[in-house]
This record gives sequence, structure tokens and C-alpha cells, in this order.
Amino acid sequence: LEYSSQLETQSREVEKTARKLREANAKLTALSVQKDAFLSQVSHELRTPMTSIRSFSEFLMEGGMDEQAQARYAGIIHEESIRLTRLLDDLLDLSVLENGQVVLNVQTASLRDLLDRAVSSAGLDASKPNGLEVLRTVEDEGVLLKTDTDRLSQVFINLISNAQKYCLSDAPSLRIVVSQSTDNVDIDFIDNGLGISPKDATVVFEKFVRLTDQASAGSAGLGLAISREIMHRLGGTLDYVPGQGGAAFRVQLPLVRVERAA
Ligand code: ADP
Repeated sequence: LEYSSQLETQSREVEKTARKLREANAKLTALSVQKDAFLSQVSHELRTPMTSIRSFSEFLMEGGMDEQAQARYAGIIHEESIRLTRLLDDLLDLSVLENGQVVLNVQTASLRDLLDRAVSSAGLDASKPNGLEVLRTVEDEGVLLKTDTDRLSQVFINLISNAQKYCLSDAPSLRIVVSQSTDNVDIDFIDNGLGISPKDATVVFEKFVRLTDQASAGSAGLGLAISREIMHRLGGTLDYVPGQGGAAFRVQLPLVRVERAA
């Protein structure tokens, strides 16, 4: 009797181990499918600029066109190579962030200064349509953050330039609203454009997702994926907030230290 109960225990153990192995195997298969999908997306994204660089350089080599056309082709090659470099930089950045190899450079800074700088550096990029009015609330007064300020600024700049690119409105405007609770500080970026449907809002944070083909020409759909990854590394979150009229994104950070200005 004892022998048979030993056998039963052993067979339960074997069954348990087999189940774990099956689960691990399923996870590996899923990862490998993800990796393949990622690689095929990356090669697709690389192919587009590569193809135009190749074709336009071939045109130039054939010669026979006037100077104006020559300059135009050279301009396209130049733009496409910049786009390629940006894409590779973004991919490397994302891979470093996802693998947890990123070294954070934590500093103390005022949230107001960080937002000021992000607003002005987003505005400096001449390739984006300007005219976006930026409205700020005053609740960022005296909020000090202890975080990687360069990385946080990168997220702010991404959200502001997305509002510049995608906020389709006659009088585009972006409200940046800071609010504090006991544990967190929320920084909301709310524009007055068309917003993002609930279905799309769940996928915009995925890699290579672009909803508006025309407006996002030249960008790879990696900005929000990178920004969300950065926020996770900083111990915070980045989410879409539905029901705000236009598009609304919320950056949330744990409040490490807050000092109210006197
Ligand atoms: P991209 O590099 O294309 O800007 P993002 O990851 O930053 O990539 O954004 C993904 C997509 O989400 C964009 O292509 C755009 O369609 C949509 N999107 C982002 N921000 C906004 C916004 N403020 N209003 C409307 N759509 C937006």
C-alpha cells in the first residue's frame, strides 16, 4: 500500500514537472513568434527608406536631368538617410530600455522647469507644423522630482510633438495639467484634436503602430512605445485617458519629494 502511494506521489510530481515544461515551451514559442514578427516589421520599416535612397541615387547616376531635379533627388536621399538614422536610434533606444540595460541618471529638478524646457525644445523643431497653443496650469509650482530628468523630458517632448503633429483642429491647443495626490504626481497632456478611439487607444503604445498614415509619414510609430518603456523604468506609468474630448495622455510618477513654494 505504501509503495503504491509513493508511486502516486511520484507520478503527480512527474505530471507537475511535465506541465511546467509544457508551459515554458509555450512561452518560448510565443516569444519566438514575437521575435519573428518584430524582425519582419523592422525589415519592412528599413526597406522603405532604403528603396528610395537606392532609386534616387540610381537616377542621379544616370544623369541627364537639370540642376533643379538633381538637387531635389539629393534632398530626398538626404532626408531618407536622416529618417533611417532616426529609426535605428529609436530601435536601439527601445532595445536598451526593454532589456533593462539602461543606466538612469537621477537628479532633482523642478517639474515646472522640465515642462518649460520640453515646451520650448519641441517648438524648436522646424519640421513640425507650429501654431499649437500650449496652456499650462499653475499646480506644478514647487513640485520637485527626483528622477532621470533627461529621460522624463524625452517623454514630455514626445507627447508635445505628437500633439503638434496629430492634433487636427482649426485652433490646435494642448493643455498640460499637473495634479498631485499623496503618492503621485499626474501630468496630463490634453489636446483639442480628434482624439483616439477606445479600440485604437489600446494599440497606440505598441511598436510601429501609426493610426494616421499621412500625418505620421516619416515617423516610425515608436515614440509612444519608447515613452511608455521609459516611464516604467522611472517607476511610473504612461496611459491614454479616454473621454477628454481630444487626445489625452497621462504621465504618472511616484512623488518622491514635494516642496511647496513659499
Ligand atoms: P509616431 O512616431 O508615428 O509619432 P507614436 O508612437 O508617437 O508614433 O504615435 C503612434 C500613433 O498614435 C501616431 O501615428 C498617431 O496616429 C497616434 N497619436 C499619437 N498622439 C496623438 C494625438 N495627440 N492625437 C491623435 N493621434 C495621436
